[in-house]
Amino acid sequence: MHPLIVRSKILAKAGFLHGFSTRWASEAGPTGPGGAFPDDAIHLSGFFEALGRDPESALRVKQVHGNAVLQTPARDWSTEADAIVLGPEDAPITPVIRTADCVPVLVGDAFTGRVAAVHAGWQGVEKCVVKEAIQAMGGPAIRLVAAIGPCICTDCFEVGEEVASAVEGASEPDVTDRSRGPKPHVDLRLAVRLQLRALGLRPESIEDVAGCTQCEPERFFSFRRDGANAGRQMAVIVPRATRNLRHT
Ligand SMILES: [Zn+2]
Repeated sequence: MHPLIVRSKILAKAGFLHGFSTRWASEAGPTGPGGAFPDDAIHLSGFFEALGRDPESALRVKQVHGNAVLQTPARDWSTEADAIVLGPEDAPITPVIRTADCVPVLVGDAFTGRVAAVHAGWQGVEKCVVKEAIQAMGGPAIRLVAAIGPCICTDCFEVGEEVASAVEGASEPDVTDRSRGPKPHVDLRLAVRLQLRALGLRPESIEDVAGCTQCEPERFFSFRRDGANAGRQMAVIVPRATRNLRHT
């Protein structure tokens, strides 16, 4: 009834082990002991078990709403970065991005097996973190497949003018809807899609994995709804050790 993991059809078809966790990933269910949100270690172990990956293989970074890309499998969680790009030689490693309203983006190169896991909130969109990650992957963008994971929806993402302007400036004016109320609403999903398109990804190679973190409390943690102590979803994609092109 409540899936532990949400997956992308196109990443699966391209042979990439990946997943976006829901709040049910933890063994303890949607909340931990005493009703508190489960801590990351518990959430991660439940999620990795469902994925069939060793929790010890997790590579996390200190996310700071910037645009730095980690490209080495450093195991120091204090490394500041908002994207991880790894190649087939790093296949034993599982890059992890944590979100709770921001946009998790998973990208795979169907030819080389290289992957990117990206954390893109409005600040990440403004700072073009997706572009930094795609460029770090190397190779033509036409080979890439990308999944935009569960994040805050347009209805829920009411913002100030400065945020709307920042996101528009880094994508297109279409991402803002000013007809819904006194304040603008921004479609972060669309902003990320437009950035991926501008980088050369084909429209059919970008998948929206549905879900709003704020208006689906049964499925997701939300920073806006739950506050600073909200749990975090995790998004992972594993580099592909060998070519598995099948019919693609
Ligand atoms: Zn929503």
